[in-house]
Amino acid sequence: MAKRKIMTAKRLKKRRLRRALWIVSVIAFALAMGQYAEKINAAREASADSQPIISADYPAPAVKENKDEQKISESSTQELTSDFIVKVKSKDGEIIEQNLEEYVSGVLAAEMPVNFDLEALKAQAVAARSYCIYYLGKNDYIPAGVSAQDWLSEEEQRERWGDNYENYRQKIVQAAAETKGEVLLWQDSVIEAVYHASCGGYKTASAADVWGGYIPYLQSVDCPHGEDKHSKKENRFSKAELAESLGAPAKGEIKITAKDASGRVAEITVGGEAFQGNEVRSALGLPSTVFTVKTKGDEVIITTDGSGHGVGMCQYGANYYALEGWDYKQILAHFYQQTELGKV
Ligand SMILES: [Zn+2]
Repeated sequence: MAKRKIMTAKRLKKRRLRRALWIVSVIAFALAMGQYAEKINAAREASADSQPIISADYPAPAVKENKDEQKISESSTQELTSDFIVKVKSKDGEIIEQNLEEYVSGVLAAEMPVNFDLEALKAQAVAARSYCIYYLGKNDYIPAGVSAQDWLSEEEQRERWGDNYENYRQKIVQAAAETKGEVLLWQDSVIEAVYHASCGGYKTASAADVWGGYIPYLQSVDCPHGEDKHSKKENRFSKAELAESLGAPAKGEIKITAKDASGRVAEITVGGEAFQGNEVRSALGLPSTVFTVKTKGDEVIITTDGSGHGVGMCQYGANYYALEGWDYKQILAHFYQQTELGKV
């Protein structure tokens, strides 16, 4: 009896120990998941700033003469109509209701150089429409600006384009009208069609490499831009400045220690401390994570290629392919793998 009692006490102790261990591991798991989610959110926020690109800063690409004039069709003079109403929050905080096609033309005006080839603008129209519908599946309205995609009201378009307003307006209306209602689908759902200004002219990035979550239609794909890699930029910092922005040791070597499959910097070490490429991009305000690092005395020169997070359609790549003769459907199928076109 006494022996059994001892055994039971031992067993009880073991059970308590097991339970305690289980509770500890559950808490540890929850904490780890929390940190993981925070990391993903931080990475997304860090790269969100680059998603909508106002293209005025970028050099105009080569456009074949008269090509667009030849293509201007009846649709450019049509009114943009849709039964789908979008609530858009303008930059001054006003909620404006617009039909979907009118909204899409406002995104085109804000997000892509209007002198890009018409097929690139049409691809952008489908991406913008898809992104909007995906976004409104989770939100009541879509803001104009960095947290979603940029958009210009007709008044803002007039201001930006001045004397060219009529011509430019005609072109974006045509791009929206000729793709009216078209969206990208993956397994019958409208996709999160993110895009960026320029991948740097080599490869786009996968969502997994940039944000840490696998998305089947946001894979790394080839993206040559011809000679022009777009927006090569030298970003200069003093060693002290760089260390302070990163919260890193001020002394020691600065070295790229890992790159992802598309050639973007995944990790950089500063004075022996490791930082993610995205972290560095956001802390230093770099246009992209495609970069090289050189030090010259007290100066650090970070040369970046391209602009934006690099995921989804590359606008300069889209224009390159359009000038090579691809139509907007081929461009979209390339940048958003495994998707198909549908209608809303
Ligand atoms: Zn590209």
